[in-house]
Amino acid sequence: MMQKPDNLRSLAIAHALAERGARTSVIELLAGITQGHARAVIRNVTGDDPRSGLLPVCSSTLISSRRRHSEASVAAGILDLFRAHNKNGLSADGIILTYDTYSMLNSTFHGSLKPLSITELFVLARDLRLGSTELRRCQVCLSKWLYCSDATTYCECPHCLLLTDATCPSCQGLKSTRARLCSECRSQEGR
Ligand SMILES: [Zn+2]
Ligand SMILES: [Zn+2]
Repeated sequence: MMQKPDNLRSLAIAHALAERGARTSVIELLAGITQGHARAVIRNVTGDDPRSGLLPVCSSTLISSRRRHSEASVAAGILDLFRAHNKNGLSADGIILTYDTYSMLNSTFHGSLKPLSITELFVLARDLRLGSTELRRCQVCLSKWLYCSDATTYCECPHCLLLTDATCPSCQGLKSTRARLCSECRSQEGR
């Protein structure tokens, strides 16, 4: 049986988060409700029992490759845009808006990467607020990228690195990231 909601606003936030697949502890923290209530909301919305397990410890665990780093940087930029974290704490609305915008972009691009979950976006927002993760501006491409103080790798602008991977060293045109040269230069070489 559902517990009596703390108030309608909390319940609306909890529902919105559960619909987007948020984990129990994220709903608990952002909606300000008890763990039992958060679990009841998830069961109610999804028809399934909530998944157990811990949240990712820190944002650096979300960065496992250059592409992942670039994507997490874009997501962090959207979190900033919607003020998902500010001096007063985390904003549930900001995190939900970020997730919806990010999911929309992701479905447009049909990337091969597994998209970041709303729980992972929560972890990003939390770490941006704590300061263990920050958005830095690249002096070369002027875009913002995610710097994690506890990551030993991925301490450079991922967008620039991806562009380097995709630039043909011979003609400076675009190439496949896996190929050494662009197809034009490769065929010139073979002549
Ligand atoms: Zn850059
Ligand atoms: Zn070339």
